[in-house]
Amino acid sequence: MNISKKARTHIDACRFCWMCRHICPIGNATGQERNTARARALGLSLVVRDAEKTEEIIDNIYECSLCGACVKECVTGWDPVMFIQEAKTDAVLAGVIPAYIEKMLEAKEKTGNVYGAVLSKGFPEREIGAEVLLYLGQDARYKSPASCKNAAAVLDKAGIRYNCLKEEPESGYAMWFLTGNTAETQSAAKECAAQLNRYKNVIVYDPADLSFIKRQYKEWGIAVTAEMVGFSNYLLELIGEKKLEVCRSKRAYTVQDSFHSARELENAESMRKLVAQCGENRDMLCCGKDTFLAGNLIMNEYMPAAMREVSRRRLENAKNIGAETVVTESPAEYEQLLALGDKAVRVLSAEEMVLENVK
Ligand code: SF4
Ligand code: SF4
Repeated sequence: MNISKKARTHIDACRFCWMCRHICPIGNATGQERNTARARALGLSLVVRDAEKTEEIIDNIYECSLCGACVKECVTGWDPVMFIQEAKTDAVLAGVIPAYIEKMLEAKEKTGNVYGAVLSKGFPEREIGAEVLLYLGQDARYKSPASCKNAAAVLDKAGIRYNCLKEEPESGYAMWFLTGNTAETQSAAKECAAQLNRYKNVIVYDPADLSFIKRQYKEWGIAVTAEMVGFSNYLLELIGEKKLEVCRSKRAYTVQDSFHSARELENAESMRKLVAQCGENRDMLCCGKDTFLAGNLIMNEYMPAAMREVSRRRLENAKNIGAETVVTESPAEYEQLLALGDKAVRVLSAEEMVLENVK
């Protein structure tokens, strides 16, 4: 297996303290020991020592959501996300990725998105030569028409002049998720950066894209000259500038923290500040950096039952503290929580929360 020395060190670094064992959202959903972070590393250590073949453990590699809960918890400071991604790249180059991943890569090749989907009717396309771009990202564009519609509606309400592209480049996040650090991923990222840099300001709707652009592009030396702002932060700015006037209601909102915002970008505050403008904040016990995943649309393509269970368990966390409304800025978590069809608690996107309290 062709992986870095650093990744090998991390694979072997475990002290078997098992502090991370209870926190893997996938392991908790499937009840399978193999889905825990440590078991993944053990599998990889066997491959590194030529005691097993990559083909034997590759499914388990793709069963990691890269949520980083284990990274946060580990006493030895090891990083499963790093070596999981290196293992994927090695599998791609060796031609041993699973058929269901191959299928998504083929869809990307043919249609430009890993879902092989087309834009929904009513997609808020506009190219009006604005200096501001609303960058929706693949999950919202192809899997969450409501997110696209409502994101546009709230910007329209604030009187913002912005472009929203019919042909939007992929940030590279989906390619990175499926193949790790390959030449194709970096090329997608470069292409995207070139398009984003045509704008003065880019409002990035999906925290997965924002985190990827801010962290991974930097690591690869891909320059982003446009000013990037996350959607929840932008909504806060609009409220601060009185372009949006909201009335604080008596409703209680429970934030489902996106791990991209809370852990990777260390920003759990914007969503809470937004909630404070709209009503009462009612947090779950495991919130902020301790958040648990509530959905992943890429993984939902190849392990829907497990992903549904991941979402169900997270909604139960919310119901256990008496949540009335769960609010999320992630289109993947929004769609997957909504798909549960649970009538006991409402699920809203950040902009839906703002829109229901706007004057
Ligand atoms: S990154 Fe998340 S899904 Fe992957 S092993 Fe760690 S806790 Fe589990
Ligand atoms: S927390 Fe770190 S050291 Fe402890 S079992 Fe998990 S991976 Fe190993």
